[in-house]
Amino acid sequence: MHDDSAHVEARLRRMLRDRIAPAVRRRSVPVTIAAWQVPDEPVPFAEAVRQRYEPFEIGSPWGGRPWGTTWFRVSGVVPADFGLAPETSVELEVDLGFVPGAVGFNAEGLAWRPDGSTITGIEPENNGVPIDADPGEAFELFVEAAANPIIDADYSFRPTPMGSRHTRGTEPIYVLRALELVERDERVWQLEQDIRVLGALLAELPSDGTRAAEVLRALDAAADALDPDDVAGSAGAARAALAPVLARRADDGAHRTVAVGHAHIDSAWMWPARETVRKCARTWSNVLDLMDRDPDFVFAASSAQQYAWIRDGYPELFARIARRVAEGRWIPVGGMWVESDTNMPGGEALARQFVAGKRFFLEHFGIETRETWLPDSFGYSAALPQIARAAGNPWFLAQKASWNETNRLPHTSFRWEGIDGTGVLVHCPPADRYNSDVSAADLHRGERQNRERGVADTSMLLFGFGDGGGGPTREMLAAAHRQHDLGGSPRVDLGTPAEVFADLERDLPDPSVWAGEIYLEFHRGTYTSQLRTKQGNRRSEHLLREAELWAATAAVRLGAAYPSEQLEEIWRTVLLQQFHDILPGSSIAWVHEVAEAEYARVAEDLERIIADAIGALAAGSAGDVSGGARTLRFNAAPVVSDGVPALGAAASAGPRAVGPRPDGAGWTFDTGRIRARIDDAGHLVSLLDLTTGREAIAPGARAAEYIVYRDTPNQYDAWDLDRTYQRHPTELTLESVDAVGDAVVVVRRTGRSTVTTRFTAVEGRAELSIASSIDWHEHEKLLKLAFPLDLKADRAASEIQFGHVERPTHQNTSWDHARFETSAHRWVHVAEPGFGVAVANDSTYGHDVSRRVRRDGGTTTLVRESLVRGPRYPDPEADQGTHRLVTVVRIAETVREAIDTGYRVNLPTREAVGAADVPPLVRVASESVIVEAVKLAEDRSGDVVVRLYEARGGSARAVSVDWGFPVGSTTRVDLLERPIEEGPGAREWDGGDPVLLDLRPFEIVTLRATRA
Ligand SMILES: [Zn+2]
Repeated sequence: MHDDSAHVEARLRRMLRDRIAPAVRRRSVPVTIAAWQVPDEPVPFAEAVRQRYEPFEIGSPWGGRPWGTTWFRVSGVVPADFGLAPETSVELEVDLGFVPGAVGFNAEGLAWRPDGSTITGIEPENNGVPIDADPGEAFELFVEAAANPIIDADYSFRPTPMGSRHTRGTEPIYVLRALELVERDERVWQLEQDIRVLGALLAELPSDGTRAAEVLRALDAAADALDPDDVAGSAGAARAALAPVLARRADDGAHRTVAVGHAHIDSAWMWPARETVRKCARTWSNVLDLMDRDPDFVFAASSAQQYAWIRDGYPELFARIARRVAEGRWIPVGGMWVESDTNMPGGEALARQFVAGKRFFLEHFGIETRETWLPDSFGYSAALPQIARAAGNPWFLAQKASWNETNRLPHTSFRWEGIDGTGVLVHCPPADRYNSDVSAADLHRGERQNRERGVADTSMLLFGFGDGGGGPTREMLAAAHRQHDLGGSPRVDLGTPAEVFADLERDLPDPSVWAGEIYLEFHRGTYTSQLRTKQGNRRSEHLLREAELWAATAAVRLGAAYPSEQLEEIWRTVLLQQFHDILPGSSIAWVHEVAEAEYARVAEDLERIIADAIGALAAGSAGDVSGGARTLRFNAAPVVSDGVPALGAAASAGPRAVGPRPDGAGWTFDTGRIRARIDDAGHLVSLLDLTTGREAIAPGARAAEYIVYRDTPNQYDAWDLDRTYQRHPTELTLESVDAVGDAVVVVRRTGRSTVTTRFTAVEGRAELSIASSIDWHEHEKLLKLAFPLDLKADRAASEIQFGHVERPTHQNTSWDHARFETSAHRWVHVAEPGFGVAVANDSTYGHDVSRRVRRDGGTTTLVRESLVRGPRYPDPEADQGTHRLVTVVRIAETVREAIDTGYRVNLPTREAVGAADVPPLVRVASESVIVEAVKLAEDRSGDVVVRLYEARGGSARAVSVDWGFPVGSTTRVDLLERPIEEGPGAREWDGGDPVLLDLRPFEIVTLRATRA
């Protein structure tokens, strides 16, 4: 037989496009349209329906301006002969002027009933609105249309003014193309789905196999059966030709795909969060509509924040969701407040993502999530397994590692072991996408890429338009049903994430292990982009720590009111900004402008809470803030600072500055612990450890050197830092260097930018402080601050949440080589036995650490901080303006000294005039156990909650925890402050008993004490 496969496939494609797809629409009639243009920001339904609507013509522009909103009131009568035939249905078809394809990045609409309930979302690939009226009846509904501009239609990464409120322009960008009542031919639509599924299956099957030939012949026969002049009349015959191949059962050993309806909705990204609220309403209305039509359809959605938005703004929709949750068809997943970044949030903040998220799901749905849900976050911190488990999540859904540029994770389903040894069961849906359309291509890729195949033959497929929302469509569900049990295809079951994890637990009793961080070999610029957003996060986290500590102390010591509600609201604001496109700096200008404003508001509120609490504590009573005459210093750090014990206040003179002495060719700072030399070019050329006599700076090298690099990544500008940046360094031009008061001040220029550096030192400290004031007007440049150190470190320790990770400084393997820019929190530490250096910061996360052997045989370990960038996409003005950052370089033999410095740099002591010292609420007698949070309980019982962790990476035995107030009993609790019921962690102590703890390396312990 001659091979006609190419001809048959081409025949089907043409027939689908030109005959079948158009025949789904049998006929249409116009409707009456009136419109109201919202003058400014979106308004609620109740306000919109009260307005005056003007007649509106198809073909007219709407929206007012980019990001504007138009409400359409749509009315008419369903023709008496519409939808009478059993194979037909009637719906309203809406084309807002969509740019084809870009679902969720486009104009979008939400259809409302006149009673204020939502019907469904309107998107390019999903633009039909069901009509409640029967033939001959009148109907009325509203369409809330959002003129959201396309920021980047074709992944060209060109700068655009559309992402800012101030530069978006004033002209409408969309024209209403269609809004009419359509009679659909469901039989033709079914035929279309048959052909699409079989055609896609054919493309995946081996072309020389019997099954492929069988499918091909059936498709050819269907094409013969279809009368091009009477598609509606012949669709049944064409379907009949396909029925036998669609009825062929899947193979016995076929891979099982559990298809979970999903809509990854970025909480802000190419749109501001205010639009995400509406995206959720549109997408979730669509989901509920589909659920009404398809009883097998199950949908999973994460992010308590998004549910909270719907609860507050769309109570009717929220109630319908709650009913589906109760039925088990709508699955709240994840249990975090948002799908946050996990590289940069601090330890307590990452814990609170789970506390806030899980509490919301428990309170509103009675649901305890079991799976952490982070398909799109840019790499996964090695602290996550322990934090997730401590919140009650033994399972973990990940995906993003499939974006690695260089290496592939060797497993699909595996045990992921965190820094403390805690494991979670990870599943990475092997189709490598979370926005599947349930195509044969995705199903077969998922089977091929399942690394556990033969052992664990179940995988998850997340389907539905995502990122910008949209969610599943009826076409996707049709594909899922047809491939449920289809010869040549993996099996498809519509189901829940829990089914997959349960299968995996059964099939993988002893799974492969991945230990440590899951570093994303991509998006390495996100540790640095949008510096002000990074600083806002860092500052907020530390202010929250202070506010909780001092407010709790004032509550226990003085009976002052604890601002639970306010703190909860502030936490939620800060947690939202940690979303995986906000904190990483990869959003449009509007988002970062809002983030900065939110951080400023939060800082003001927290400063007030702190001032009130400290004022009350200093005065010695809640009501009286005068009185007393000594200068007290309040130390919120978990380490001694300025001579004040951790977490308390005491009289202290505070830090005493050591000024620079001129030494002929520069200046010297001598703190008694170090001697630091700044040369007349403004570089740190010597940092001598006076204890050991060792020099920290590599011979002939210049430390605290700023270098500007070309920063023009091939793609994803705000996200990516390409390795080639290293090839194009530029020094800054020295303007001046002078001693000014206690500082050496250096002014340098590069391009249109100025960098002013203040070197200062404090008596008795083994460190030098480097404050950088940067007036930045560069685009597509990266500014780094370099410390070439005279020591041979094989590994660098970088702080993460509740501990640190060690990463090689060499590049032996492709994994090491790909890790050329890394995230660290407050410090990086490099050491050899007996000597080491910490580089601590108050602002940034991007670092790189490398080493090279010098001609003299010694080794230089180079630690560099990434200070600021200037990507032009998606925010053309990213990072422009003034910034201030502090870096401290410290002689630190041990990690513990690095930890101390990290806390002190980020939590300077505060001064207040007071009467008596304030003893801490809790004292921990251990060199290695650190208190991360002191607060009152979430349930507002007044109990004191303390979170601590082993910070050095070693076991700690018999660590005594002493309460500084009368205690009824102490209980070990989980992150949600619930008693740990069983296992080694379950412990309770009576008030009088000494609380003694054994901690494994990096273990987190949460204690809850009742007040006697
Ligand atoms: Zn995302």
